[in-house]
Amino acid sequence: MQLLDGIKVSNAILEDIKNEVDSRIKNHKKRPHLAAILVGDNPASQTYVGAKVKTCEYVGFQSTLSKLADDASEAELLALIEKYNNDADIDGILVQLPLPRHISEDKVINTISPLKDVDGFHPVSIGKMVLGQDTFIPATPNGIMMMLAHYNIDTSGMHCVVIGRSNIVGTPMSLLMSRNTNPGNCTVTMCHSKTKNLKEMCLQADIIVAAIGRPNYVTADMVKPGAIIIDVGINRIEDASKKSGFRLVGDVDFEAVKEKSSYITPVPGGVGKMTICALMKNTLLACN
Ligand code: NAD
Repeated sequence: MQLLDGIKVSNAILEDIKNEVDSRIKNHKKRPHLAAILVGDNPASQTYVGAKVKTCEYVGFQSTLSKLADDASEAELLALIEKYNNDADIDGILVQLPLPRHISEDKVINTISPLKDVDGFHPVSIGKMVLGQDTFIPATPNGIMMMLAHYNIDTSGMHCVVIGRSNIVGTPMSLLMSRNTNPGNCTVTMCHSKTKNLKEMCLQADIIVAAIGRPNYVTADMVKPGAIIIDVGINRIEDASKKSGFRLVGDVDFEAVKEKSSYITPVPGGVGKMTICALMKNTLLACN
């Protein structure tokens, strides 16, 4: 078994981005600028946005973090996005999801200019991705593709089972793995909460991408020997031995599954790190 080390891979990619920013500045080009918007005080969202802002600093991007109260109106959020759409200094806009229930995620995503849609969630970005045109690819699936590429894993002809069909992970992941690219060129089965024979599906998989949101859901008896395991899940489970009172686990029962797999991502230190890295790549792209 080989660990797919998100910390190591993302550090290498972030170093390249940092060098590119340095050379941009030397050549009197614009410094990339990401505007992040956080609504409410969801602790996980605060952590994710904090990590994104910190990584911007690390690679030399400018960042602006706007925090809106939990009861901020939809109109207030849309107006802020419009302001950033019209601000030539801002290259990328990200609104941390999920949003409070009274705000329409669709409206918010549709309001972000496709030119600044570094999360890749706008219908224009998704449409272009489906057609294989250059665009912003959603960060988590893109980070996974970058990880597979880094380890030179040839996925051509493999059967990839993606568990989960969310707009931000499962659906784009399925599309990317089925495209005529490397990594890619897989035969893809997308499973979800209504799939009846998940275990049988998984047992046929050369690659499993688990994006479910259920701790340790993929167990060793669901995995074919030698399969590649990509664990997207980030779940908090109680742990009295931790100062915070919780620890993070993935959707895969890592300890048991690692024995059967050829490659596996850990949680934390796997896909999460790659997601931030892919966001930085998209922001750099938005600035060009
Ligand atoms: P989501 O809740 O939007 O989607 C979960 C999907 O899992 C759904 O499509 C659902 O059909 C499927 N599902 C639920 N129960 C199932 C079951 N019993 N069998 C088969 N499928 C089932 O979640 P999401 O936004 O796609 O995120 C999934 C997980 O990935 C979460 O733990 C989330 O925290 C994590 N996540 C991690 C990153 C990262 O950077 N590592 C990024 C985004 C999301």
